[in-house]
Amino acid sequence: MKAKPVVEIMSFRSAFGGYSDFYVCPACHVTLEREFMAYCDRCGQRLDWRKYKDAKVIPVRR
Ligand SMILES: [Zn+2]
Repeated sequence: MKAKPVVEIMSFRSAFGGYSDFYVCPACHVTLEREFMAYCDRCGQRLDWRKYKDAKVIPVRR
């Protein structure tokens, strides 16, 4: 399977001002548990981390 670049980060903000960032699978759009995983846990998409520094941050409130 061809690798897809990881290009999105979901940034979860808490009511207390903290936040935690998770990279997003480019195929199934779940958040990835760890950075630099070779494959997505859920869909098995091969991940390409070469563009991760340019990833777009998506703020998410919970
Ligand atoms: Zn996936």
